[in-house]
This record gives sequence, structure tokens and C-alpha cells, in this order.
Amino acid sequence: MSIKEIFETLDYGPAPEATDVASDWLERHGRRFGHFIGGRFVKPAGGETFATYHPGDARELAQVAQGDERDVAKAVKAARAAQGAWQELGGHERARYLYAVARHVQKHARLLAVLEALDNGKPIRETRDLDVPLVARHFYHHAGWAQLLESEFPAYTAVGVCAQIIPWNFPLLMLAWKVAPALAAGNTVVLKPAEFTPLTALLFAELAAEVGLPAGVFNVVTGDGRTGAALVDAEGIDKVAFTGSTEVGRSIRKATAGRGLKLSLELGGKSPFIVFDDADIDSAVEGVVDAIWFNQGQVCCAGSRLLVQESVAARLEAKLIARMESLREGPPLDKGIDIGAIIAPVQLSKIERLVAQGREEGARCYQPSWSAPKDGWYYPPTLFTDVSPAATIAQEEIFGPVIVSMTFRTPAEAVELANDTRYGLAASVWTENVNLALDIAPRLKAGVVWVNCTNQFDAAAGFGGYRESGFGREGGREGMFEYLKPRYEGGLTRYAATDLADPAAAADITAGLDEATAPLGIDRTPKLYIGGKQKRPDGNYAYPVVSATGVRVGDAPLGNRKDVRDAVEAAVKGTAWTKATAHGRAQVLYYVAENLSARAPEFEARVRSLTGVTRRAAAREVSKSVERLFSAAAYADKYDGSVHPTPMRNVTLAMNEPFDVLAIVCPDEAPLLAFVSLVAPALAMGNRVVAVPSARWPLLATDLYQVFDTSDVPGGAINIVTGVRDELAQVLARHDAVEAMWYLGSAAGSAMVERESAGNLKATWVNSGKQRDWYDDAQASGPELLRRATRVKNVWVPYGE
Ligand code: ADP
Repeated sequence: MSIKEIFETLDYGPAPEATDVASDWLERHGRRFGHFIGGRFVKPAGGETFATYHPGDARELAQVAQGDERDVAKAVKAARAAQGAWQELGGHERARYLYAVARHVQKHARLLAVLEALDNGKPIRETRDLDVPLVARHFYHHAGWAQLLESEFPAYTAVGVCAQIIPWNFPLLMLAWKVAPALAAGNTVVLKPAEFTPLTALLFAELAAEVGLPAGVFNVVTGDGRTGAALVDAEGIDKVAFTGSTEVGRSIRKATAGRGLKLSLELGGKSPFIVFDDADIDSAVEGVVDAIWFNQGQVCCAGSRLLVQESVAARLEAKLIARMESLREGPPLDKGIDIGAIIAPVQLSKIERLVAQGREEGARCYQPSWSAPKDGWYYPPTLFTDVSPAATIAQEEIFGPVIVSMTFRTPAEAVELANDTRYGLAASVWTENVNLALDIAPRLKAGVVWVNCTNQFDAAAGFGGYRESGFGREGGREGMFEYLKPRYEGGLTRYAATDLADPAAAADITAGLDEATAPLGIDRTPKLYIGGKQKRPDGNYAYPVVSATGVRVGDAPLGNRKDVRDAVEAAVKGTAWTKATAHGRAQVLYYVAENLSARAPEFEARVRSLTGVTRRAAAREVSKSVERLFSAAAYADKYDGSVHPTPMRNVTLAMNEPFDVLAIVCPDEAPLLAFVSLVAPALAMGNRVVAVPSARWPLLATDLYQVFDTSDVPGGAINIVTGVRDELAQVLARHDAVEAMWYLGSAAGSAMVERESAGNLKATWVNSGKQRDWYDDAQASGPELLRRATRVKNVWVPYGE
């Protein structure tokens, strides 16, 4: 046999990793686990357990506890009891603990890797070389944030007790992404791992206890979705962090509405993998392997839609079909395999059902000639070509080793196809032309864009979605904010019922509305401001604006749902504002400030006549508003992104991007200042805004129309609808084109906005019925607002030949 023949016929023998370390650990626990609460294992209150299996051979590994609300309450209590002391330890002491955890993870790397491969069914090669090293990296990185907390986040403090719910696809890594920043910031945690993969979280809890992590700082309650729901509903939590399906994310959004909880959601995806005709096709083929066959495609950011420029599609597909043939699928503990097992029979049937549907819908299906092993839950790598963009398999997340291929002709078409999904988690762009890549990346609706690479993760870079892929970031500086809150929040108080600014009083403007509303006066009643034009409200009705002393000062248009829709549409179309340069936006905002300043006496008189404040106070409100405009203008080209030092040969550009449409519902008090303080930074960051001004005293906002008109504000950048606050807010919260929403009003209104925003999972920011001091820069200006007005996109750009 010639050497050439040997190479061609060469096959791999099995190279199984020994499982004894993991078996020993399981045996030590009698293959039966309780919850880990207050530093030790405890029996479940209900005594119920369920089995967890090895997907590679369908054998039971252990019995774990099914948690109920009693177990959850116990864990939350333990976390609550531990929180104060943990926070008071200070950043340096917490850093030492996190550092020790990282070291201990490294020391037990083999046990963790084997146990993870057993419980999840993913290849040991991945758990050994990727999951576990990244877990250690996360704890090291966040030990650093703990150390630097006081100096890097002086205006922030811990949130409190964090409820964290994670999925089964990266059990340990998702734990690390959530637990490391939470603990670094001084929070304590109750974690619920997924029902299919609870074991490594329990092992991790034990390891953390071994390094002396104080009891109650980290608790684990196991169980299925019911346990997760009980944790979300538990009293005494301050934050929910969830990674999982969009459907469950939506139910958590509703369940947490109005409870004053911080929430971050990392949900599903249908991420595009875009290949341009000048791409290195062989690298792109290997990229696809990593994008969709890594972890059996059970990756929320899997590149599951292959978008190929038409001229190279046939070549790429042919190479891909050939490459599929040489992939090795088999026992997860075999070091030579590429693809392991699917997590559970229910997931396997879902994949089978969707693939069958893809075939029925007329797409062409390719699978390798070899068949997948039968003694566990396996599914072969699958490629669909000739897929229509509207097909179920092109739209629905399959969460398996199945990729659908479509073609495009021009870069614009590629962007359109890429964004043709409800999701927006990640995207991958393949081209040798860096200009093209960096032109496309900002146009993709995705929280992460990988240029000529895919599925890259690091603790220093934020990860998270746009649109129905959720909100919030995990990793890096941006991820730390999910576990911190501004210090001033602790001092905010609820509106007093007698307060003139009490949002409940806003309801008064509708009381007796039937008698008070009148057909819109011909000349003197202001109008709505939509698309840069003054517009009569759809209903043609106005409502009386009554001063603090009870005098009817004028009328305001009574906007309705049609007006809100028109305003949103104008904002959607107003792309010129977002495309303008930061310098250009700054110029416009300075101009607005200048024009407001020129008309200060008129605005002061209006403030006085409405709110009844003194001449001095009115002057102060106007001049502070001018100052806020200056401040926003100043920030327009200074609240910039960063370049994260991820340890690959690449630069990771963290860019602050605006939302397409940001809705802002303003409070009643300080009717000019609050409006300007909220709207100006949102505009500065390039958002197109739909604003509902003070319902009680909207005339200051309507007086601004002329200021906008004379300040070169392009049409659609700012749109204003006056009327009954919560009625308009509800339409905005439900509107699918509104991507983010701020609401400052009553507690009930805040709850409504959070609940109603679940449809398209808006990023919301509400005041929970608490009043803020609009003259305090910490509360009403600066980076916290700018952060709320943007979302971070991380673009990974490799270098080197
Ligand atoms: P996946 O599609 O990744 O399985 P799920 O959203 O079903 O995603 O599960 C992710 C995590 O959410 C798991 O830990 C699961 O037990 C938990 N979970 C499922 N349903 C609920 C629920 N209604 N409330 C809270 N957690 C839930």
C-alpha cells in the first residue's frame, strides 16, 4: 500500500476519554442530589426527584430534585441573608474569592469537562477546549471587575438577590456568564439550571463551597420550567436573568412586569451567515461547520441561515456537502468526534418535525451518506438549499444541526435577507474586503457580528440581542451594568397622592372629558408634531389644559391610537437623523438650545402660567433645559464605544447603536425640563423619538415645535403626540416598530408598559411610579441616560494573514 493510499483510507479508531472521575463523583453522592442552599445540599421540600441522562447512550446518570416554591423561598432567603455581608466585603475581597473559584475550576477541569459532556452529550473536545477554559476565563475576568468596582462604577451599587435561569446547551458556561458578574458586583444568586443538565451546576456549587465562598452567596435549585416559574414569581428577588427560548422569555417579561425588578433576557436566534463572492470559500466552509455543527447546532447564536452571493453559491454548497461527509458523529466522550448527541428525545423530535416540514415545503435536503448512531439521541448534519425566505425552516429556530441556504445578489439584498427575521442575536460576514464587512456590520440587526469568524466568545466582550433575541448584555463592561443599579435609585420616593405631579392626577384630564373636550379650535389650539409637520389629531378633539391654580390656560390636541401609529411610522421613515454624523446631530442640538435660549422669556411665562412656580423657578427650569441640550449635544460625539481586548488575534469593536424608534413618555412635573432631559440624549445618540409630553401640561412641548422647525431638526427625528398618558403609552408599548420605551409616570402605568411590551420584547426603562429630581444631573443627565438610549453591538474583526 502506498503512503498516498494509506492517507486516503486512514480512519480514526475510538479514543474514549475515561469517565471515572465523573462516575466517582456521582457515586460519592449516591447518584442522588438535593438542592444546594445556604452552603450545603438540602432535601427537596416535596421529596420529588427526576432523572438526568447521558444523551450519548440514553442511560440515566443521576436523580435530581424537582424544586417547588418552598425550595425556592428557602434559597431566596439564604441569598438574601448573605447579600449584605457579601457586598460589604468590598471589591477586593470578592475579587479574591472569584479568583479562587477560577483557580479551582482549572484544577478540576477534567472532572468538569467529563461531567458536562456526559450530562449534555456534547463532544468532550468542546467541553475540554472551550466550555471549561471559558468558564475559568469568566471568573478571572470578573474577579477583575470586583477589584475595580468602586473605582470604575462609583455611581453604582449592587442590585441585591439575583434569580438566574439558564438553558441546557452550555450549562457551565451560561452559569459562569451569569454568576461571575453577579457576584463581582456584590449580589447573591439563586440559580436554576435546566432540567436536562443540572449536574455541573451542583458540582460547581460544591467547588465554590470548597474555596470558602460564604454560605448563601450562591444557591442552586434544580427542577423544570415550573421551578423556573416559581423562582421568577418568588418574593424577595431583585433581578431576573434568563437565557432560553423567546417564548419563555416573553412569559418572564409578563411575570416580572410592575415588580420593580431588573431584567435581562438572552433569547432565541436565527442568525445569518453571509458569504460574499470574494470570501475565502474554504475558510467559509469551515466557518459553517463551526456555525451550525458546533454543539450540534444547539446554540442560540448558531449561524443557521447561510446567505451566499449567487455567483459562488454552487461552489460553496458543493464543498459543504463534501465536508459534511467527513464529519464524525458519535459518542461524546470520544475525543475524535465532531458532533455529539442531541440533548433529549423531545428536542430530537422537534428537529425531525421541522426537517420533514422543510422537505414538504419543497426545499432540497442534503445529509451525509453515513447514518447517525442509534443507541443515543443523534441527528445527522443537514443542509437545505433552494429555501424560500418565508419558509418555516428559514424563519423558525430549529436548535439542531440544520442549516438553510439562500442566495443574494447585492450587499443591500444580503442585509435585507439577513434582517428578515424577528430575531437579532448574531451575524457572521465573510469577505476579504474589510470595507465591505465594516459597511455591512452596522446595518445588521444583531448584537454580535463576527467578520470572517463565528461563534467567538470572550468574557471581555458583551453578548446579547436585538429585537426578539432579548435585551441586556453579558460580558465585559456592558455586562456589568446588568448587575448594578445607580445609587440614586435607592433614594427615590413615590409620588405623594396630593402631589400636583402625581401621575394618578393625569387621569383627571380625562375626567369629565366628554363635556370638556371640544372640537379643535381653528387657530389657537396647538397640533401634534409628526414627521416634522404640525398635524391635526385624528379625532379632531382637544382637551383643556388647566394650570396648577385651576385656570384653563388653553387646549391641547387629544391624540389617539391612530396618531401614535402615524408618529411611529414617521419615526421609522426618519432615517436621515440616524444616518447623520454625530457631529451633525450635535450641531442641530446646539441650534435647538440656542433657539430655546433666544425665546427664554416666552417659555418662562408659559412655565409660570401652567405650573404656578415663581419667576425665578421658571427661569431656572428654562435655563436648565438649555443646559441639558448643550450637555446632550456635547455627548453626541463623545459617548463612544470601545475596543475590547479579547484574547484572539482580532479587535472587538463595541459600538453604541441607537434604536430605530425609541418611545418616551414624560412625567408631569418640570414639564419642559423633564421633556428636554429625556428627549435630548435620545436624539443625541441617533434615535428617532416618539414622545408623549406631560399629559397635564403639554403646552411647553407644543411650544417647542417652532424651535425644532427653526433648528434644522429633520422630519421624523422627533414626533410628539399629546393626550392621555397611559392610553398613548399602551399603544406605544404594543407597537412592533417601537424597539425601546421609557416611561415615567405611575406605578400602574409602569407595570402596564412592561407587560404590554412583551410582544416584541422592547428594551424598557420605567420609573415604577417614583419621582426623580430633574435638576439633579446624576438622575436626569449623563451616561446612565445615554446607556439607556443605546445598545451595544460587538463586531469581531480578526487580523493577520
Ligand atoms: P430551551 O428552548 O433552551 O429549552 P427554555 O426556555 O424552555 O429553553 O428553557 C430554558 C430554561 O428556562 C430552563 O432552565 C427551563 O427549565 C426554564 N423554564 C422553562 N419554562 C419556564 C417558565 N415558565 N418560567 C421560568 N423558567 C422556565
